[in-house]
Amino acid sequence: MSSSILVVGSVAFDSVKTPFGEAEDVLGGSATYFSVSASFFSKVRVVAVVGSDFSDDHASIFKRHNIDTSGLVRADGRTFRWKGEYGFDLNEAHTLDTQLNVFETFRPDLPEDYRDAEYVFLGNIDPQLQAEVLDQVRQPRVVACDTMNFWISGKLEALKKTLGRVDILVINDGETRMLGGEANLVQAANNVRAMGPRVLIVKRGEYGVLMFNEDSVFAAPAFPLEEVFDPTGAGDSFAGGFMGHLAASDSLDDSTFRRAIVYGSVMASFDVEEFSLKGLSKLTKTEIEGRFGQFQKLTHFDAL
Ligand code: AMP
Repeated sequence: MSSSILVVGSVAFDSVKTPFGEAEDVLGGSATYFSVSASFFSKVRVVAVVGSDFSDDHASIFKRHNIDTSGLVRADGRTFRWKGEYGFDLNEAHTLDTQLNVFETFRPDLPEDYRDAEYVFLGNIDPQLQAEVLDQVRQPRVVACDTMNFWISGKLEALKKTLGRVDILVINDGETRMLGGEANLVQAANNVRAMGPRVLIVKRGEYGVLMFNEDSVFAAPAFPLEEVFDPTGAGDSFAGGFMGHLAASDSLDDSTFRRAIVYGSVMASFDVEEFSLKGLSKLTKTEIEGRFGQFQKLTHFDAL
């Protein structure tokens, strides 16, 4: 199989309310969505911490997807918890509560075979923790990173240090404007790229994705779905498909990046069709390739 991907991020219990229903204490977290999504493309190794309330049953999803959990630590205390709400505009999550719990004191110590990882994804978590993981990886080929408003406002200096070591940043449009200090998205993107990341991928919810890579800009729509149930995890599922394809194809040219964007969009579209990880966990490779083909038709047009 292809090179493996190392991911650090949250493993969480989420309580989510959307206009179509609600769920309490369901499995979520940036590392969870990312790992399950990327596992369809590549071998994945996860670094995170859970509490004593995290059962073997909760962990079974990692096993089912052949995800290496030797870096998933169980500590005394409660698992990370996030509570969020979406209005009819499903593009923006409103955070109601964030409880770091066991993440507050977590100091990652990577298993030996994790340290040779070539593809690293620093999932949405404390930027200082992201840096501590990166410190332990010997020679990463590609480092991608996600973050959110919670860390941009709470840990900006640590975040800027981490960004200086990152090749690809994957954030949403609001976060791009916030971090770049500009209302105009292109100018904000330029400011963010000046902080370190060579490639910036801006997620725009149902409007799709923009990728700024060197001098090229690539736009992909989101898959037009008749039913969107729960957008939680869309960004991490996107990043999982994106990094999964990069690692599987072992190439970093612009056309590989563009295909990776579409695989990411495919995975995000499956995620949002159901609550928690239900949409992703039952997928097959044939369904993924089928929707990839539909994306190609969706975006194709002929010149005159
Ligand atoms: P997204 O892909 O952006 O929808 O991410 C959703 C996931 O991010 C949820 O499952 C949450 O558990 C997790 N999350 C929310 N806030 C934070 C935070 N401050 N740090 C780490 N993970 C978070």
